Amino acid sequence: MKIFGIFGDPIEHSLSPVMQNAAFRALGQEACYHAFRVSRECLEDALIGAAAMGFGGLNLTIPLKEKALELDILQPDELAEAIGAVNTVSFGRNQRIVGHNTDGEGALQAMKDAAISLRHSKVLLIGAGGAARAIAYSLKNEGAEILVANRNAKKADELAASVGGLGFGLCDLGQLVLQSDIIINATSVGMKDGDPSLFDGRLLRRGQVVFDIVYNRETELLKAARLAGAVAIDGVMMLVYQGAKSLEIWTGLKAPVHVMEKAVRDGLKERR
Ligand code: NAP
Repeated sequence: MKIFGIFGDPIEHSLSPVMQNAAFRALGQEACYHAFRVSRECLEDALIGAAAMGFGGLNLTIPLKEKALELDILQPDELAEAIGAVNTVSFGRNQRIVGHNTDGEGALQAMKDAAISLRHSKVLLIGAGGAARAIAYSLKNEGAEILVANRNAKKADELAASVGGLGFGLCDLGQLVLQSDIIINATSVGMKDGDPSLFDGRLLRRGQVVFDIVYNRETELLKAARLAGAVAIDGVMMLVYQGAKSLEIWTGLKAPVHVMEKAVRDGLKERR
């Protein structure tokens, strides 16, 4: 039985275990996938331990995606290096630990499913963490005009500069929302009940697209988007596609995307 898993902190909210276990069952694989609470300080030891125990592969989530690149024991592939974050780890020969990133492809596929055209669109990306970095990289490749806003404005400036966009602090959000075609929330705001909105949802309008990559609940932002008549996309399909890509990296098999989507949607229903 091969062991797979996700490392992060907090980790209780993750639906990756139900999604990946459903996929392994559908593929007839002798494998199981668990969630492990791992802090930044313990990431190196946890990765060495997983390699030593013959794990089949891992996902990394908050707050580990950027931290992973600081570790000498991990070799990022070209994409993870360019993005500056790792969300998928595979184990090669001699316990070689390789970092990959599937978040950007997952986000892109979710927007393509919703028939969103990115070329020449003005996209406001809120956040500058691991997920935002991957999305910014994909947006650049698709030819979008990118505005990045983040609580830590210096990080927004750095990320924006790396993709030819402009960086801002969150105090500029109102103005930025008005001038944007597509608004993407790639912060963790919205994950918890009672999280405030990042900006006044009444600024949204019909014709805009709002993509909130938070997937565990209907966020205030998505509620405001629907109310305004904007196109509202939640984080479920991004989760499914990034996980499908991870599974393909680990196993070389084609991921059963529909099985994975059903497992996530059933898991969400059970929690509500
Ligand atoms: P991360 O690297 O820890 O980045 C967190 C981001 O959220 C940073 O930009 C941070 O700003 C911002 N932030 C945190 N608390 C905030 C607050 N109170 N007010 C304003 N901004 C705040 O995390 P991540 O891995 O990028 O994940 C971010 C979110 O995306 C999480 O909710 C995660 O579940 C979700 N996600 C979803 C998928 C999916 O497949 N649907 C995939 C990946 C991630 P500072 O830089 O200023 O701290």
